[in-house]
Amino acid sequence: MKPETDKWETIIGLEVHAQLSTESKLFCGCSTRFGDEPNANTCPVCLGLPGALPVLNWRAVELGARAALALGLHINELSIFARKNYFYPDLPKGYQISQYDQPFSANGTLEIMTADRDEAGHAHEWRPMILRITRLHLEEDAGKNVHEGLPDVDRYSYIDLNRSGVPLAEIVTEPDFRSSWQAYDYVNHVRRALQWVGASDADMEKGNLRCEANVSVRRKGETQFGTKVELKNLNSVRFMQKAVDFEVERHIETLESGGRLVQETRLWDERLSETRPMRSKEEAHDYRYFPEPDLPPLVVTPEFIEDARELLPELPGPRAKRFTRQYGLSFTDASQLTADRSLADYYENAVEASGGNARATANWIRSELLRELENAELAADKSPVAAAELGALVRLIDEGTISGKQGKDVLVEMFGTGKSASAIVQERGLIQVSDTGEIDRVIEEVIAASPKQLEQYRTGKESLFGFFVGQVMKASKGKANPKIVNERLRQRLRA
Ligand SMILES: [Zn+2]
Repeated sequence: MKPETDKWETIIGLEVHAQLSTESKLFCGCSTRFGDEPNANTCPVCLGLPGALPVLNWRAVELGARAALALGLHINELSIFARKNYFYPDLPKGYQISQYDQPFSANGTLEIMTADRDEAGHAHEWRPMILRITRLHLEEDAGKNVHEGLPDVDRYSYIDLNRSGVPLAEIVTEPDFRSSWQAYDYVNHVRRALQWVGASDADMEKGNLRCEANVSVRRKGETQFGTKVELKNLNSVRFMQKAVDFEVERHIETLESGGRLVQETRLWDERLSETRPMRSKEEAHDYRYFPEPDLPPLVVTPEFIEDARELLPELPGPRAKRFTRQYGLSFTDASQLTADRSLADYYENAVEASGGNARATANWIRSELLRELENAELAADKSPVAAAELGALVRLIDEGTISGKQGKDVLVEMFGTGKSASAIVQERGLIQVSDTGEIDRVIEEVIAASPKQLEQYRTGKESLFGFFVGQVMKASKGKANPKIVNERLRQRLRA
């Protein structure tokens, strides 16, 4: 029996851990580089050797401030580092330096855009959503356990402490999400915002953005929260969304059949498309938090906060809204073009070079350029076709010098060779034929060669019009201006 999902309300809260893009770790000078030999980037501080003392990396505070402001949080002028005590092999000190009751920033209000999706995952009807961010605090990362070999045969576990001490911003929301797609849109928003302000690479594949979801359900109208489950091992935003959906269905089915849920941590298994229990949480962990005695309170001045605010670029949300107003783009197009900052800059430069043809430029970037960039795995600022050159191409098409179809080939060649649009048009002799006399001559040739089709067309088979257009375009080797071909052909066939 399918659960009666419309009688239930889903409650989701999210925790995101984002690695701040510093060169060195949070409390020592070791490199944060990804992919080095295991344990190459370690020292007494991040190995947790007795007597080694932490020294705060101020760059991490600056990036943390940018992240906090980009997400609408309030920065506290005084915050306290605290020890979070727990035992785990990848945590050599036996505690993690984090922040607890006096975090770096708190009380955020953030507006994101969100949409429900159909079965195929297509979004419809984007609408704004306001959510509350409880806090963003600074903390160090733990190391990593690496398991190799086959279980019970030659299974070994190794510890790599390169990640130990890498600076993280932990971002915690209130339980404000009511669907997995809202959670999905939020994490994508955070990812984009952090990249945008340069606070984090926010690359989930490299593990420098990780998320966890707290999920519960309750009957509509109830005010108490139901039993919640914490989901981990969510290696992509899409996996998170699927894991949440799976859990919601499992909760409703369990409750409707009279079962009981336990508060626990569950892992997403992408291969089986299901969650499974990791450990149960009878009570909240007792981490025995206390203020870190080796570090002074973290104090930032109002000037520091003001400077950080002034250094922030125009954020993706406001920029997308401006694109819809200023360039007449749909919201979907504007969000795609503000998916990262280099692409948004590229678009605005290209519009200028095209002579202000904002919509055509948007279309060329979305339908043609992005595909080439994706295939070459390049960001817009590394595009072999400079923004000014793409604008020049849009202008050539707009002025009728070449057709849109020719433009596509030209763009591919521009991308491959780095040559300008006008150089390629000249080399290939691509100038579009708009001379009506020349086009009429080709039309006569085509009509003379197709008496049967002409007869059928005149006796009512109007779908053959496309056949004639195709023949004329073919005979002109694609150079005829299709708009003029259409016009002249219609006139001629009416005669
Ligand atoms: Zn170190």
